[in-house]
Parts: sequence; C-alpha cells; structure tokens
Amino acid sequence: MQTQHTEVFVSGGGIAGMITALAFAEAGFSVVCVDPATPVTDRAAKGADMRSTAFLQPSRALLEEIGLWARLEAHAAPLQVMRIIDAGGETPTPRVESEFDATDISEQPFGWNFPNWLLRREALAALEAHPQITPRFGVGVQDVLTRSEAVRLRLSDGSTVSTKLLIAADGRNSPVRRALRIDVQTIRYGQKALAFTVSHPIPHNNISTEIHRSGGPFTLVPLPDRDGLPASAIVWMERGEEALRLRDLDKAAFEKELNARSCGILGPLELTSPRDIWPIISQYARSLTGERTALIAEAAHVIPPIGAQGLNMSLADLRALRDQAVAHRGALGSREMLDAYARGRLADIRLRITGIDALNRASMAGARPLRDLRALGLNAIHGVKPLRKSLMQIGLGAKG
Ligand SMILES: Cc1cc2nc3c(=O)[nH]c(=O)nc-3n(C[C@H](O)[C@H](O)[C@H](O)COP(=O)(O)OP(=O)(O)OC[C@H]3O[C@@H](n4cnc5c(N)ncnc54)[C@H](O)[C@@H]3O)c2cc1C
Repeated sequence: MQTQHTEVFVSGGGIAGMITALAFAEAGFSVVCVDPATPVTDRAAKGADMRSTAFLQPSRALLEEIGLWARLEAHAAPLQVMRIIDAGGETPTPRVESEFDATDISEQPFGWNFPNWLLRREALAALEAHPQITPRFGVGVQDVLTRSEAVRLRLSDGSTVSTKLLIAADGRNSPVRRALRIDVQTIRYGQKALAFTVSHPIPHNNISTEIHRSGGPFTLVPLPDRDGLPASAIVWMERGEEALRLRDLDKAAFEKELNARSCGILGPLELTSPRDIWPIISQYARSLTGERTALIAEAAHVIPPIGAQGLNMSLADLRALRDQAVAHRGALGSREMLDAYARGRLADIRLRITGIDALNRASMAGARPLRDLRALGLNAIHGVKPLRKSLMQIGLGAKG
C-alpha cells in the first residue's frame, strides 16, 4: 500500500477534530482526518450524543470564518442571561438568585446552544463536501513515528500516512499523546454528570440556569422548542454512586427527583431523551506539543462542564494553532511554530482549569457552613458591577 501525503493530519473526528479539519482546509492546507468511530448524526439513533454545546461569542466568530455557522444558525438557541441559583439551605428551594445579562457587556447574547448530535451532522456534511479534506471514519491511528522532517502514521487498516503537522484531537485518552509519551496531571472528583433533554411548560426565555445545592451544579441550557414545547438540555452533576442510582431509576421516579432538584423553576420537567453518563475530571497535558505534533481540545485539557468552557477552550486552541500555521506556512510543524502555539495558549488554559476546579469544589460542598459561604460569595460577586462584568468577559473568553 502506498503512503498518503498530507500537510495536516487530524487524529480524532469528534466535534473538535472535525472543526479543526475544516479550519485548516479553509486556510488552504490539505487535511486528512481519521476516527475509528463514525459520527452518530441522528437524534433517535443508538449512541447519539445527548449533550449540547453552547458556543460563546469568540467561537461563533471562528465558525463564521470557516463557513460552518451558516449551516448551524437556523438551529441555534441563544443564551441571553446566565442565572445562578443557590439552593443550599435546609430545603431544596432557591435562597440566592443572581442574573448575569449579556446586555451588560455586549450587544450579542453570551452564546448559542446546539445539540451535539446536530453539530456532528452539520460538521460531517461540511467535511465531506470540502475538496481539501480526506475524511477517514472507521479507521484509527495505531502507530506514530515522529521525525524532524515529517510524521509517519500507521492506521488500523494497515495504511500509512505522512504529514508535516500532526494534530491530536483524539480525546482525553489521546492515543497520539500516549505514543509521544506526554504525561498528564489528573484531578478526580468522584463525580459523574448525567446529560439528557427535557420539555417544560414555562418558556426558558433564553436564560441558562445553574442551580447549586450539593454534589455539583445542575444546569439547564435552552434548546429550540421541540414538538411545540419549550425544551432544555440538562447536565446534572452528582457524586458517582448517586449519579448511577439516578440513571437507573424508572422514568417516573427519575422525574420526581429531577423536579425536586430543579426547584420547579420551569414548571414540571418531562424527560425526553435517554440519560447519558459522563465521568468528571480535570486534566491537563504536561506539554501541548511534541515533535511536529500539537495537542488540542480534550487531548490537551479536560474540565468539568461548568460555564460552557470545554469546547470553547478547544476552539481557542484551534484558532491559535491555525494562525501559527498560516504565519509559518513555509515551516509548517516546525519547533518554532509549535512553541509559538504553546506560548499563546498556556496562560489561558491554566486560568480556566484553576477557575473551573474552584467553582466545581464550591458547588460540591456538602457541609452546611460551606454552602452558606458559597451563597455569600455569589451575592458578593453579583453585587459589585465591575467585578460582575469582568467575570462575564473572562467567562466569555473575551478577556483572560
Ligand atoms: C456532560 C458534558 C457537557 C458538556 N457541555 C459543554 C458545553 O456546553 N460547552 C462546551 O464548550 N463544552 C462542553 N463540554 C465539553 C465538550 O463536550 C468537550 O470539550 C468535547 O466533547 C471534547 O471534544 P474532543 O473532540 O476533544 O473529544 P471527543 O469528543 O472525546 O473526541 C475524540 C475523538 O477521538 C477519537 N479517537 C479515539 N481513538 C482514536 C484513534 N486511535 N485514532 C483517531 N481517533 C481516535 C474518538 O473516537 C473520538 O471521536 C461538556 C462535556 C461534558 C462531559
């Protein structure tokens, strides 16, 4: 079998990997993108990803630049207000409520939310239509041999590919990162997240709500109406055993607990999807680069799903890497290019990992005095306008 040559090779065709392939192809590079799994692009199909992703303002700008936004726009649910509720008192009822409104800092909403299965459908269609991209689903990276001139990859079907720049977008257990022997630092919280969708009688009015009690945040994120009813995506974080118990309850028993936890803010919630379960960790790679290789997205960093930061950080990686590739077009994959990428990303990644870790620990608090402290903190932050605005800008990725 002949070796295929490409300028850029993307290992991993998850949402981050597919968007990366599109961004590099749009910048004029030839791209091969491989993934052993074929994207599930139908909501009702087995294995459909029931999570949703909120793209914050800087991510939308990137999606517009690479032509993906035009495919997505009609399916967006805007996020105009972020509401944070502390329900950590004696009973599970709201006791402190703060609203952060995007109009305080911008003419646009904070972000736009989409179901993950739909993002995969639209990204895959764009990938398959792009003349610069060779998508290879059903095939994974097996061996990686880096050399100063090129990287040679052996794939699971026995074929080989040679590339100037290898991008690892192959997830938290990244096989490319392992092949390059790049270590990770991992924090385990003993927590899991349940992800599912609901319908409700009270409209969400484009408000995303995070409710804190104990065990972790319970977050409702607006979705477009479904079958004529208001709909939301929920991420419910709990200690591992409790999350498994909740997943295994029958629908009626689950909805009872769900409605107690949501404090009834959108009226009675009805479960409209299967319940996916995700382990929660924080993790970062000790280096963002190896020879002719860049790590991005969850291959580089994993954080708990709070404040819609995960994939937005990944798109910030991708933007930085693409810009360095364009600036070093004659020296694609060189040490100089990769160092510039790492320098540009490290501070922002550290800031967000540290910030989200602290928020998650505050939200997990079980003991009453800690829960009271959290409520006081929330009140204090919200009450000081410059601090509130500053935090909103950092959360958005407009400020680091
Ligand atoms: C419950 C939950 C809710 C979330 N909500 C949000 C949100 O609202 N906003 C946000 O920004 N982020 C959110 N995130 C984070 C976001 O989902 C992740 O950042 C994103 O899915 C990670 O994408 P990824 O492409 O890096 O990894 P993955 O999605 O894990 O993709 C990695 C891909 O690599 C492939 N792969 C594996 N082995 C190989 C191989 N040998 N060769 C090639 N490919 C391989 C896998 O098959 C997979 O498709 C959430 C996360 C969780 C857990």
